[in-house]
Amino acid sequence: SYFFIIFIISRLIPIIGVNQRLWTDLLPPNLLSLDISSRLSLDQSSLAMASTDFGNLVHTNPAAVLHPSSVDDIVSLLKFSYNNSFPFKVAARGRGHSCRGQAMVENGVVIDMPSLSIPTRFYADIGGEQLWVDVLHATLDHGVAPVSWTDYLYLSVGGTLSNAGISGQTFRYGPQINNVHELDVVTGKGELITCSKKMNSELFHAVLGGLGQFGIITRARIRLEAAPKRVKWVRMLYDDFSTFTRDQEHLISLYGNYQELININHGLNYVEGSIILQQSDPNNWRSSFFSSNDQARITSLNVPNGVLYFLEVAKFYYDHDDDTNTDKELKKQLEGLNYIPECIFTRDVSFVEFLNRVRKGELELHSKGLWEVPHPWLNIFIPKSQIEDLHHVIPNIIAKDNTDLAGPILFYPLNRNKWDDKMSAVTPEEDVFYTLGLLHSSGFDDWEALERKNEEILKYCEEHGIKIKQYLPHYTTKKEWESHFGHKKWRIFQQRKNSFDPKMILSPGQKIFNSVG
Ligand code: FAD
Repeated sequence: SYFFIIFIISRLIPIIGVNQRLWTDLLPPNLLSLDISSRLSLDQSSLAMASTDFGNLVHTNPAAVLHPSSVDDIVSLLKFSYNNSFPFKVAARGRGHSCRGQAMVENGVVIDMPSLSIPTRFYADIGGEQLWVDVLHATLDHGVAPVSWTDYLYLSVGGTLSNAGISGQTFRYGPQINNVHELDVVTGKGELITCSKKMNSELFHAVLGGLGQFGIITRARIRLEAAPKRVKWVRMLYDDFSTFTRDQEHLISLYGNYQELININHGLNYVEGSIILQQSDPNNWRSSFFSSNDQARITSLNVPNGVLYFLEVAKFYYDHDDDTNTDKELKKQLEGLNYIPECIFTRDVSFVEFLNRVRKGELELHSKGLWEVPHPWLNIFIPKSQIEDLHHVIPNIIAKDNTDLAGPILFYPLNRNKWDDKMSAVTPEEDVFYTLGLLHSSGFDDWEALERKNEEILKYCEEHGIKIKQYLPHYTTKKEWESHFGHKKWRIFQQRKNSFDPKMILSPGQKIFNSVG
């Protein structure tokens, strides 16, 4: 088993600033379709840097600053301008020691040359068998960390990449499968193949979200960034579903549109949400967040229909960040949200404590012998336009029969533009969709009651035309699998199976190619 980190001498940080001016006012909008778009910056500090020099006599604003990660970025920018019917101006900026604006460009692009040599682009080569928690600790030793996580870290890299790997970071960075540069895969033919978007791309796309059907991941090259040190972790309470979801969608909307990509230091790093019945404990094994005072306050709230919604967000920050600025930025992000007045709870924890928040509850359950109970979980993705339809039934189904809902219900939105449809993972077709996770635990004898609730939800969706997709899907017939993937993607999935595992050797437990019906 191996695990090592490689530092590339280049720059990754996608610095695109929040700025009043739109790209389109000053530069050709299709500039955004280039690979370099994530390294073009509009944020105030980059623009300010490029609009002054040592002389401090001339001040000229560029439209954007390019932080090139390689010479190719510079080639792309200049080719693009040259081939445009209205070429825009470009200037390289070395260290800005001119006295009269010689490295400035009005409404054009300044290339920040020092970016070429900044060692801030990292990746780790990780064995498919490694646990994410070990990835976290090993990368932190080097001051870096992956950007996309699962809530629980004792999962294997190969296991989550075979599904998608989602959590509160997904709206911004995409699922874990979207943060992989390269894989080593042993296919069903026993061939060890290295693949990436550019090399053996069919296998690369097949394996990511591929439910173990095409090969065994033995190495994954995972994107890393400078690791934050601490986290402002906030939960806000709602008693109205529409207000709750409107606010969640507002928070993720900044990342659903490339016009508004923002600096990595701005914005929220994590947005999730959950639904609870007021009578149940607001803390659960996923995280004990609330103090006993908070809990008492929550129980005493007058909640019209007995259902509460938690909007959960996090803002990461670094050693060099000023604490007050982080608070200010957080406040700015949460401005205008309509949670129940005063029902906002904040904690300040270390990055590791935040990411590993589920572990404590897990150990407690283990100690009581409750981690090993049956878990009839259901995870579904729901198109945004249909969440209201489903919401009407969920609390009823959950509360019905007085079967205790022993487990958290996760509910939060994701941006589809952060997913790559070439990969095997399946999502609804709308730009924004929600993930609903019913993470039930049951006694050894009563799991079937919870399974029936799951079936009821799935049946309701089918009967009411709610176009859900199961995450961590479980089906038993070919017809269901075909409908899960959709006609076109199912055809591709089958072709890929035929290419990489023609004898259908791999992961039969998914019951895709050996389904009963
Ligand atoms: P396994 O259950 O061992 O395997 C899953 C599938 O992947 C199998 O088909 C297996 O054959 C295949 N597989 C395993 N390793 C490889 C490999 N190296 N190469 C190719 N195929 C492989 N998921 C999320 O997205 N977000 C979460 O927040 C999240 N939280 C969870 C919390 C808990 C407590 C649990 C139990 C699960 C959670 N999951 C979450 C689901 C989890 O991502 C999947 O169950 C995942 O498959 C678990 O990884 P594993 O290593 O245990 O996989």
